[in-house]
Amino acid sequence: MDGSRNHVIRTLETVKRWGRLNSPWALHFNTGSCNGCDIEILATLTPRYDVERFGIKLQGSPRHADVLLCTGPVTRQAHDRLLRIYAQMHEPKYVVAIGSCALSGGVFADCYNTLGGIDQVIPVDAYIPGCPPRPEAIIDGIVKLLSSLQPVELQMEKETV
Ligand code: SF4
Repeated sequence: MDGSRNHVIRTLETVKRWGRLNSPWALHFNTGSCNGCDIEILATLTPRYDVERFGIKLQGSPRHADVLLCTGPVTRQAHDRLLRIYAQMHEPKYVVAIGSCALSGGVFADCYNTLGGIDQVIPVDAYIPGCPPRPEAIIDGIVKLLSSLQPVELQMEKETV
């Protein structure tokens, strides 16, 4: 009885994981960017680049989001908000740092009011460089992150197709 129950739980977990990785909901948070990277993210969401074809959908609430897209250096003002948003997201959650400022502080690195890149405050799973990165680079980075999270068997299946 326990064996079949475990099998059902494992199957449900696999389905849940498959759904999450094939239709991730993303939350966008500007931690202090100049808005250049944010405009590129918005362009990525338009029909021209059509990021929804990968199942990626913008979401307004951290409680419903799987992926946090961060732009800009972390300012002292945004620090607590970033921590709160990250804490409100459910597990498993992934963070993507978009643009040079989110990676290292960029042009704002030595400012008195910035703390550096996103990974100075929360763990980052993918880094997309550029000032700002083009929509193609943003899509490439997110898709690579999601592919790397697929179970190994599924990755091998995709490579042989
Ligand atoms: S990487 Fe460039 S475009 Fe993006 S927030 Fe920094 S200065 Fe602005």
